[in-house]
Amino acid sequence: MSDIYEQYALLGISGRVLDFAAPVLETLRPRFAELDETAEFNQLRVIKAMQDAHVGEANLMGTTGYGYDDIGREGIERTYAGFFGTEDALVRPQITCGTHALALALSANLRPGDELLSASGKPYDTLEEVIGIRPSRGSLAEFGISYRQADLNEDGSISFENIRRGLTEKTRLVEIQRSRGYLTRPTLSIEQIGETIRFIRSIRPDVIIMIDNCYGEFTERREPSQVGADMVVGSLIKNPGGGLAPTGGYIAGTAECVANCAVRLTSPGLGKEVGASLGILPSYYEGFFLAPTMTASAIKGAVFAAACYERLGFDCFPKSADPRYDIVQAVTFGSPEAEIAFCQGIQAAAPVDSFVVPEPDTMPGYDAPVVMAAGAFVSGSTVELSADGPIREPYTAYFQGGLSWPHAKLGVLKSLQYLLDRNLITI
Ligand SMILES: *Cc1c(COP(=O)(O)O)cnc(C)c1O
Repeated sequence: MSDIYEQYALLGISGRVLDFAAPVLETLRPRFAELDETAEFNQLRVIKAMQDAHVGEANLMGTTGYGYDDIGREGIERTYAGFFGTEDALVRPQITCGTHALALALSANLRPGDELLSASGKPYDTLEEVIGIRPSRGSLAEFGISYRQADLNEDGSISFENIRRGLTEKTRLVEIQRSRGYLTRPTLSIEQIGETIRFIRSIRPDVIIMIDNCYGEFTERREPSQVGADMVVGSLIKNPGGGLAPTGGYIAGTAECVANCAVRLTSPGLGKEVGASLGILPSYYEGFFLAPTMTASAIKGAVFAAACYERLGFDCFPKSADPRYDIVQAVTFGSPEAEIAFCQGIQAAAPVDSFVVPEPDTMPGYDAPVVMAAGAFVSGSTVELSADGPIREPYTAYFQGGLSWPHAKLGVLKSLQYLLDRNLITI
């Protein structure tokens, strides 16, 4: 025990913070055991998908130029399709981020005159310009694709009544966002997504149902494609990249939907047949392999943060005891000093850029200064330990990621130390 206290002391964590954290951790043991079981379950699913896809050493090689006959690319796409239980998948470094993957899935499967319905209320911020909710160059609206939104109930749950009203003859595609992202509604469980899909199908069996799966992968034992979704879409610098994928996005779904996406990403006539994977494939395979345990580490970090800050009287969303269907934790600090100290503590625990002190600054698209902590191997990766928040009432910081549980734990401890040193908490 004293040895570990010495190691922590070398990183600036005092005995007082460790003594505060120890009983908190004790209460979380059963919870962590459950998270480990989910990781075990999903690890087996990933290995089975890789074995079924016949992944061999040759698959780890890459191609250049057109990328014809890229067996590595085909293998990773079979692996994703196997894991998600879909007919096909597109997993590509040419998909630049989550927003691009979602924009691709939408624009590839909608045609002029079609209507898009969001079943989970307001979609993720960046989709507003994709859809044209905020007028934007190249939006779906510019191509004559209209949009409706089924607003959520007061308590943030899905409104079946609003979905019923939102489904018209024009509706071609329904989007459901799994993670709450940075909204205050609860994240949807697979159970709730399945129920919503069944309801939509009972009215319009023929619409395409697409899930924004960002931040949700591996948090449960099933994915939305296993409860009836036609397409699941996400970013490789979030959960499924396992922290190793340096860029990319994926779309897993029906053969028809994925084929539409492929010809939109590359070109009609070319589809999935082109797209050099360069040297990126080892990181895709290994990242996917590590993703289940990495996701569990990130959730442990989130639960631990919630448990510590709840004990100190701060509002946490979700609460430490709530079930988790994504990796994002919000903590409301009530003062700019505490919010900033928290983010600076997270930064100070990073393996990269620990010496950087994040300060609030203006950011395009935000109406208040934002403070951001990220000491990441992959720029902008939010499966790595990171925190950010706008400097405005009620001073909420969002915390997510952690490639390993010990690092996530250090980040939380370091944040507590910073708040303690600045007399913003008493423990
Ligand atoms: C991160 C995220 C996106 C967008 O992904 P980017 O890679 O940042 O473009 C979309 N939806 C949700 C729910 C997300 O969390």
